[in-house]
Amino acid sequence: MVVAMAQTPTQHAQENAYRVALAQYDRATQYLNLDDGIREYLRYPRREFTVNFPVRRDDGSVEMFTGYRVHHSTVLGPSKGGIRYSLDVNLDEVRALAMWMTWKCALVNIPYGGAKGGVVVNPKTLSMSELERLTRRYASELIPLISPYADIPAPDMGTTPQVMAWIMDTYSMTVGYSVPAIVTGKPIIIGGSQGRTEATGRGTIICMMEALKQKGRLNKPGIKIVIQGFGNVGSHAAAYAYELGFNVVAVSDVNGGIYNENGLDIPALLNYVASNGSIQGFPGSVALTNEELLTLPCDVLIPAAMENQITQDNASKVRAAIIVEGANGPTTPEADDILNDMGVFLVPDILANAGGVVVSYFEWVQDLQAFSWDKEEVFRQLQRIMVRSYDNTVTMAQRYKVDMRTAAQITAINHVAEGMKTRGFYP
Ligand code: NAD
Repeated sequence: MVVAMAQTPTQHAQENAYRVALAQYDRATQYLNLDDGIREYLRYPRREFTVNFPVRRDDGSVEMFTGYRVHHSTVLGPSKGGIRYSLDVNLDEVRALAMWMTWKCALVNIPYGGAKGGVVVNPKTLSMSELERLTRRYASELIPLISPYADIPAPDMGTTPQVMAWIMDTYSMTVGYSVPAIVTGKPIIIGGSQGRTEATGRGTIICMMEALKQKGRLNKPGIKIVIQGFGNVGSHAAAYAYELGFNVVAVSDVNGGIYNENGLDIPALLNYVASNGSIQGFPGSVALTNEELLTLPCDVLIPAAMENQITQDNASKVRAAIIVEGANGPTTPEADDILNDMGVFLVPDILANAGGVVVSYFEWVQDLQAFSWDKEEVFRQLQRIMVRSYDNTVTMAQRYKVDMRTAAQITAINHVAEGMKTRGFYP
């Protein structure tokens, strides 16, 4: 039998997401009078799990893959976080994403800790049956770590509701009965929530509206929005912004962007992507690179692709008044400083993309109660939590005279630290 090597991870010449997460943590904790033990404790992931596992390809050969799951914190509840399939996945990236999940859940005040998982794989290189076998094997390797009361995965880059369905089925087959609450972001037919697919992008636009209101720009006609990434987050942010009457002038995917200074017809673009598989060549648009897209003149820039997109190399060229981070970790601390000096107002990831985990929480609650909400109720509760969290962050920014990222992190870290102090160190 031939066993092929794992897919080759992307070589990270650029930024390390975990360095970014820790730098943000150190920056925020300067403002908090934390017990030294708690400050140190929260810098570390609680558990880290690495697994190497075989997957049979359709041609009969066997290939090895590497996967991870990191629990950063379980202080405020079971750990919660997505699973990413990408060649960029590595342990430090998963650690950073798990830590950001802890702060995100604490910031929006839902009873979860933070986790993240990932497999080093380009899912586009696998057939559907290979993807299913990879997912089921990875899910079964995770069984010692996951449960509806311990750790609840969800989709992230490169994973879909169908992938969640396979994880739910694998777990359910193992324990012998159906456990919908083991994952969120599932198809609705097996216990997914109304509105979960749209939730992250919608929450990003709710934050954008609050920021425009705060800056007195909401009534400005023809507000121009640029979105990097046209996957789950980017496409739903674009669709909701379009529905509300905003002008989405540019979007991109991994292969590059498209631009129309008068605004893209987003419903037509979504149909185009559904039949062509890509945004490239959309009628009435001009092509541009992702680098060019990030520096287009616009009112609002929404990075909704991945980490480390706005760095010290390009931050000074950004021409947006407001940045709303749909992606996790798209801006480095050095870029934060440059943008702050330029007067760019940034709504940070742990606030701006929290809509996904908020509706994941609703999904989990519905599954545990075997009771489902309608979409209007889901969106009403999402709006309420996003606006409340935005307002709390603004209040903290004003109280501590800091930017929105630092304010969001101060709020979140303090919340987890209070929980830790109340529980005490075991034993
Ligand atoms: P996705 O896989 O659905 O889409 C990712 C998009 O980014 C695709 O359009 C892809 O082509 C594009 N992309 C990938 N690499 C790129 C690159 N190097 N340059 C430009 N574009 C690139 O993923 P998603 O679920 O939309 O997640 C996007 C980001 O949002 C990630 O940072 C993720 O962690 C974050 N996020 C997602 C959710 C969610 O509910 N899906 C929730 C919170 C945060």
